[in-house]
Amino acid sequence: MAGIPLFIRYPALKEKLPYISLGSFPTPVSRLENLGIALGIENLYVKQDGLSGPYGGNKVRKLEFLLAKAMQDNAKAVMTFGFAGSNHAAATAVYAKRLGLDCISILLQQPNAQYVRDNLLVAKHFNAELHHFGNILNAILGSLYLRAKHKLEGKSVEIIPPGGSSPLGTIGYVNASFELCEQISLGAPRPDKIYVALGSMGTVAGIILGLKAAGLDSKVVAVDVAGKRFANSKKLKSLIDRTCCFLHSLDSTFPLVNISQDELCVRHEFMGEGYAHFTQAGMDAVRLMRETEGINLDGTYTGKTLSAIVNDAPSLEGKHILFWNTYNSMSISGIISGADYHSLPKAFYQYFENRVQQSEL
Ligand SMILES: *Cc1c(COP(=O)(O)O)cnc(C)c1O
Repeated sequence: MAGIPLFIRYPALKEKLPYISLGSFPTPVSRLENLGIALGIENLYVKQDGLSGPYGGNKVRKLEFLLAKAMQDNAKAVMTFGFAGSNHAAATAVYAKRLGLDCISILLQQPNAQYVRDNLLVAKHFNAELHHFGNILNAILGSLYLRAKHKLEGKSVEIIPPGGSSPLGTIGYVNASFELCEQISLGAPRPDKIYVALGSMGTVAGIILGLKAAGLDSKVVAVDVAGKRFANSKKLKSLIDRTCCFLHSLDSTFPLVNISQDELCVRHEFMGEGYAHFTQAGMDAVRLMRETEGINLDGTYTGKTLSAIVNDAPSLEGKHILFWNTYNSMSISGIISGADYHSLPKAFYQYFENRVQQSEL
């Protein structure tokens, strides 16, 4: 085991950062030939982070650092936050269980969708303790209460922020950029532009920082799926800077890169009504990807991101374009088939008893 690309490049970081291998890396870079033909983009590729583990997607790379930290701190449980159908909360439940950590999820009301049901059943299958709240204030109060309660019972709880997007979690995607650079040195095409979803921002922040540190000048197009208030270039720059300072403080040979807000490309026009509200263009993109390449995307993140490529396609001809797929590609039907939602707390029944969004049908 030679270690992960970031540690090969910066061996001092290996001694200082908590890390535990959870996923399967490197994830493949593959050509999207049929989709490319459909869109008139000859050199269209995908970085398949959907294949990053038994429950794949972008959260695995972050959890390799975040859960290692929880183990290092001797935590008995992790507590994390998200919307009801959070891929992050589901992934945290899966990998925490593997490490023998309990998982407590503080979940907020969100628009309904099939993937919400699936992720709730996955988290339940892996014994996560799930709590539903109708608004943020109640969620915060609830989390404080639950944390205190677990402490009284002698259980130390490690907090993992929403989406896993602390500087520590973001390092997972700094490493991902070094991984991509290694693949390019082995013959994968060097992308002119990388399209990737922008939610809690750790993924994009890590990719941008990693590319800069590795000396690759691919331009990152960050597609906002969470709303301007939460996902914008100012907050993105802040997360990049904090992650960079953190890495530099651990290994002074890690460069203090300077990335100005102006050079960040955040696109807000593909989000539609808001987080997890599916758009027609996003669902068309999901369908197109399934029909041309057999890859499953989602309506909350990756469909909207691909809809940006579809929109931009006329100006992308002749360029090398990389779509960074952040959505789980592994089948979870074996885990959830036959599962009964009545095993969940009652507050979650609504997602199984109410209809999914019209555009999903
Ligand atoms: C969480 C998530 C994202 C967004 O990543 P952030 O690091 O939160 O910006 C994108 N795609 C999928 C499928 C996700 O679950």
